[in-house]
Amino acid sequence: MGDAIREAPAASSIPTVTGQVLVLNSGSSSVKFALLDPVTGRRRVDGEAERVGAPDAVLRVRRYPGEAVTEALPAGGYHAVISKILDLLADAGHEAAGAGHRVVHGGARFTDSVLVDDDVTDAIRSFSDLAPLQNPANLAGIEAVRAARPDLPQVAVFDTAFHQTMPPRAFRYAVPQDWYTTHQVRRYGFHGTSYRYVTGQTAVMLDRPLEQLRLVAAHLGNGCSAVAVRDGASVDTTMGLTPLEGLVMGTRSGDVDPGLFGYLAGRTGMTAAELTDVLNTGSGLLGLSGTSNDMRTIGAAAAAGDERAQLALEVFVHRLAKAIAGLVTSLDRLDALVFTAGIGENSALVRRLVLARLGFLGLAEDPEANARHGRGTNGRISAPGPVQALVVPTDEELMIARDTARLVEQANPELSRTGRGFPLAVPSPRRGPAGQVPARLLGQ
Ligand code: ADP
Repeated sequence: MGDAIREAPAASSIPTVTGQVLVLNSGSSSVKFALLDPVTGRRRVDGEAERVGAPDAVLRVRRYPGEAVTEALPAGGYHAVISKILDLLADAGHEAAGAGHRVVHGGARFTDSVLVDDDVTDAIRSFSDLAPLQNPANLAGIEAVRAARPDLPQVAVFDTAFHQTMPPRAFRYAVPQDWYTTHQVRRYGFHGTSYRYVTGQTAVMLDRPLEQLRLVAAHLGNGCSAVAVRDGASVDTTMGLTPLEGLVMGTRSGDVDPGLFGYLAGRTGMTAAELTDVLNTGSGLLGLSGTSNDMRTIGAAAAAGDERAQLALEVFVHRLAKAIAGLVTSLDRLDALVFTAGIGENSALVRRLVLARLGFLGLAEDPEANARHGRGTNGRISAPGPVQALVVPTDEELMIARDTARLVEQANPELSRTGRGFPLAVPSPRRGPAGQVPARLLGQ
């Protein structure tokens, strides 16, 4: 067990901290977790288990304030890892009032987060074909918590739920009807939890009601997408049936001609599954540059004259600017363009190149504000005008914690009455004024 944990006093001598939520993101070989206050966002403990199930699995834990400590994990899969995380929190005197899980695919069924029961786990399992790498892992996380703490309420928060407001003209593909009715082939969209958070924040930062705003937000991390948000609701987005559609990403191609499958299958003998794997893992910035999926490396190599890195950057920006302009057609007008996630929050270069392409929408970079990533200008990186560009840092874990607190408390009002729940009313994540998180809670 790591130093930070060994140093923790015995559980009996520490007052139990209630009102916290455990947020879990169980991926195909990793489990990220955080114990945080759903109102203030203050973190008590967080960390990540890597190479789960493998003999060299490790668990990195950080208790605040304090340094991260890494320790080896015995092999044993999600159950072993999660019961270790739960024990470690209990040993440190923390009692979670609920566990919130990121779940990638909620199909067309889930339009909001839900308390987990058998019906919900069955539904998550039924969507595994649509997210074969993610949903089974997300479910394993839920089942591991249930096995270790059967009484702990659990909430599933879906990446797809926010986009369920898209109209059919945006979510249907022009394919035979029975592909849709029999096989659920339609556009779902992802990154919804992030979009819910950053659009709520944008309304606070602009000091305008979310239900009067027309926004395009671009979540640019390892996966990249953009969304059109009209009056607080997603009306179109770039990702589709799977997170492969749309923008150029770190290792994902984004849009390609579907004719590519037949063409390359004929020439190479590769199967659809093999081609899909290359489009997911060997394409995007990595495929174009031949060297990296990391925008920092691409930017540095492009500046040093590497022609393939320059092309990767150009294609990335071209496709992003084109998508943003396309999304505005669902809004009639644009009030703000929001950049978030790793690239969106940190790459002044990408933002500058994108804004330079979008002057016709009324956007113009403020170079100094952009270089400072909007710090000191309340997120604004554009010149003053009716259309703003903003950098808004995302916090999906806080959004998951808030949904969890809201649903756990709704289901169990006794929690608040006995003081075991959450100290203040948890802001509703739904759109509208209640969905806007007061700036004072977010340290701005
Ligand atoms: P994830 O989707 O895994 O959550 P992140 O949101 O952390 O990913 O984003 C990862 C991406 O952010 C990577 O492409 C990385 O290069 C990029 N990134 C992080 N910091 C910077 C930076 N300072 N400049 C440019 N890109 C950055």
